[in-house]
Amino acid sequence: MTETTKWVFAFDEGDGKNKKLLGGKGANLCEMTQIGLNVPPGFVITTDACLAYLETPDRQLPAGVMDQVRDQMAALERKTGKGFGNPENPLLVSVRSGSAMSMPGMMDTILNLGLNEETLQGEIKATGDDRFGYDSYRRFIQLFGKVALGVSDEAFDKEFNAVKEAAHAKQDVDLSAADLKEMSERFLKVVEEHTGKPFPADPMIQLEIAVKAVFNSWMGRRAVDYRKQFHITPEMANGTAVNICTMVFGNRGNDSATGVGFTRNPGTGENKLYGEYLINAQGEDVVAGIRTPKPLDRLTVEMPQMAEELAELRAKLETHYREVQDFEFTIERGVLYCLQTRNGKMNAHGMVRTSVEMEQEGLISKEQALQRIDPISLEQMLFPRLDPSSKVEPVAQGLPASPGAAAGIAVFDADRAHQLGHDLGQKVILVREETKPEDIHGFFASEGILTARGGKTSHAAVVARGMGKPCVAGAEGISVDVSRRVAIVGATSFKEGDTITIDGSSGRVYLGEIATVEPDFTPELSTLLQWADEVARLKVMANADTPEDARNARKYGAVGIGLARTERMFNATDRLPLVIEMIVAETPEKRDEALEALLPLQRQDFRELFEVMAPNPVTIRLLDPPIHEFLPDEHQLEQDLADLRALAGATRGMTALAGSMGLLHTPDKARDEFDAVRRVMDPMMVEEAIAKKEAMLRKVRALHETNPMLGHRGVRLGISFPEIYKMQVRAILEAAAECAQAGIEIQPQIKVPQVCTVQELKRVKVYVDEAHAEVQAKHGQPVKFKFGTMIEVVRACMRAESLAAEAEFFSFGTNDLTQAVFSFSREDAENKFLPLYNQSNVLQDNPFEVLDERGVGKLMQLAVDWGRGVRADLHVGICGEHGGHPASIAFCDQAGLDYVSCSGPRVPVARLAAAQAALKHRPQ
Ligand code: PEP
Ligand code: MG
Repeated sequence: MTETTKWVFAFDEGDGKNKKLLGGKGANLCEMTQIGLNVPPGFVITTDACLAYLETPDRQLPAGVMDQVRDQMAALERKTGKGFGNPENPLLVSVRSGSAMSMPGMMDTILNLGLNEETLQGEIKATGDDRFGYDSYRRFIQLFGKVALGVSDEAFDKEFNAVKEAAHAKQDVDLSAADLKEMSERFLKVVEEHTGKPFPADPMIQLEIAVKAVFNSWMGRRAVDYRKQFHITPEMANGTAVNICTMVFGNRGNDSATGVGFTRNPGTGENKLYGEYLINAQGEDVVAGIRTPKPLDRLTVEMPQMAEELAELRAKLETHYREVQDFEFTIERGVLYCLQTRNGKMNAHGMVRTSVEMEQEGLISKEQALQRIDPISLEQMLFPRLDPSSKVEPVAQGLPASPGAAAGIAVFDADRAHQLGHDLGQKVILVREETKPEDIHGFFASEGILTARGGKTSHAAVVARGMGKPCVAGAEGISVDVSRRVAIVGATSFKEGDTITIDGSSGRVYLGEIATVEPDFTPELSTLLQWADEVARLKVMANADTPEDARNARKYGAVGIGLARTERMFNATDRLPLVIEMIVAETPEKRDEALEALLPLQRQDFRELFEVMAPNPVTIRLLDPPIHEFLPDEHQLEQDLADLRALAGATRGMTALAGSMGLLHTPDKARDEFDAVRRVMDPMMVEEAIAKKEAMLRKVRALHETNPMLGHRGVRLGISFPEIYKMQVRAILEAAAECAQAGIEIQPQIKVPQVCTVQELKRVKVYVDEAHAEVQAKHGQPVKFKFGTMIEVVRACMRAESLAAEAEFFSFGTNDLTQAVFSFSREDAENKFLPLYNQSNVLQDNPFEVLDERGVGKLMQLAVDWGRGVRADLHVGICGEHGGHPASIAFCDQAGLDYVSCSGPRVPVARLAAAQAALKHRPQ
């Protein structure tokens, strides 16, 4: 880059598509100007300039930047007829950040730049409004002081409150010109005291300092945290642009206003202009929630002409962008300006409804409707809501700012929320008078956010919606006393640590914890997912172990069960004692007895699953985990034994003592009492209990393994204890026969876990064939099923050809496969070294969450190709956790899998992700 590099672009020349270079906001301002919207003139300094600046050791603007800025300022002067620093008719500008990715409220904006003692007088003369002049001036000093010079808000607030108090003013608008003049003088002193230098008066110097401050804010804590949280990489956004725009004023009297709008309701998606405005105010008043604004509906009454123009603006924005827009506007003396627009951040409800409706209105295609939604966000629509039958009365009512219900302990500042929520894992609700961007770490750590002031477009509301967290804003009945850590709500109060519940869908606040109920699909979500199913190539099945899970999975649109883990059925209270008996049995007869008792229970389990899912496939996995998982813990057993032995000693001691006292032969009350105690501590019973525990302990010790996850589990159990697998296979086939007899169409599938050699599969196949023949003979009718294998061992991938000769389907168990490929223990890695690996970019993602395409994925691809080489119609799916992760689903689509299987609530996510995956590679 040289001195001739073009660092600066006017709004009417910049490429509106080049967000990387001009930032989202800057590119949009260019585009808006170029499509004929009434945007105040301005220009953009590029993100390249920001990066070049940040690279200089002493933070110097690259050569040429300020020259080009000066040229542009001269052009602005020509366009507006005003002069920068001209006391007669001063030109004032705003200075805003804007990177390629929208990061709302994450960086700073400076308004009214260009004001000083002289231009202020010019401004007053030009407008004939000294109150307005001083108001702008004190706002500028404070913002510039805070953002560009690092003076704290508190220092200004102190002076602000002192002036307000002295003037007996209730609201800001009650302050007179003289009050505001005094305030600006005090503010100038504050700056001088804190920086040791007078406030910079030269507008061009102000501009240079401001540009540098915006560039610096790219590396500020808020921005860095935000990028980390939302995984914004340098490829997505690198550096911020600076937008310099002629100021227009919403605070020039009652024919002026400022507001923010969404072309549709971002909470519900309703096709109606949504937003808020304040008469005679500047933009920051709306966003900061300092005054509670009015809904845009009111504008029709207060400024009908402007309401009409706003409706036109809304239509223009949507037909041009074909996306819901979140825009800022200002009305200065009856002229409407559009200051900014960007794609609206909406919660999942809003996204889904607008997708479906915009398609129906012909604004977007079905494909676009499907592609504009982040699949993971659909989980929000499955958020619990408050039980409508709850009779608990709310204690306060605010604005429903971000839907969903949340309960937790109240905390009153962001640091504390971080400490309790993030560090100690408690559920907290962040309760604030109003929130500011620096509270962001508190948001991340909280279940929900409650504010006493601010509207639905206040900082709290926008950020909470973006995060999908419930938020109640502007609950004005609440007053927060941060220093005493208490909130007063009318006659009652709650303090830090008290549990409260907020309902972001209704705006209600409750003391205590209120029960929640599971939500239902909205009609729009059903339509959208139906479209998704039409384009998706991958089928979506569910991992479900109980009929209840299966019913839910069906409700969410699963077209089968891809994994039923039979061991989860064994944990039911009526099964566990039988399972333990089966394991500790010393003889095959004893084991058979326990298995005989388990068989009808398992048969019933399978039958219910088949019935719930009919006619879709149900894939049942034979027993997998190491059997010690069903047995009591060794240390617990040792402890129990020590207790029992102590009890036995005491019992013996008491009996001896009673004997020596002749008590055993005394027919009186004392003896009766002694007998009662002795019955409880019967030495025979205690000895028996000791013997049982000792047997169990011996068994547990015998079964102990150093690496149980790599030990005696899966098909290895099936080979060592064939009777267990035989019982399960019989139960599956008998349940299938019963269903067939009852005329229920089903598709049973049996799969074998942990297979590494075809010999294992062949052995199990023998049991299956035997049981199949017997069951068919017994029931006198054919029983259809499929036989397949899990692929979760590296060798299974390598031997896919031989396995495919025996297996009709492959089911990738990517949890174990990831463990095996990385040699990372899946039990330990995630809470030991993986967080560090991710933070320090040794690994970009957690491989147990996001499928490692380059390692695990490569093996999968080999297995699929080799397997299909032997059996062309080999059916292949995935049932590890990755089956519910959108990026991993996209990989599975590319790798040619037939289905993904994931937990029930992930099914809608997976359906949409499967559609997006198919669309990604569809020729346009
Ligand atoms: C797997 O390993 O991916 C799998 C689905 O099995 P489990 O998680 O039960 O070991
Ligand atoms: Mg597994």
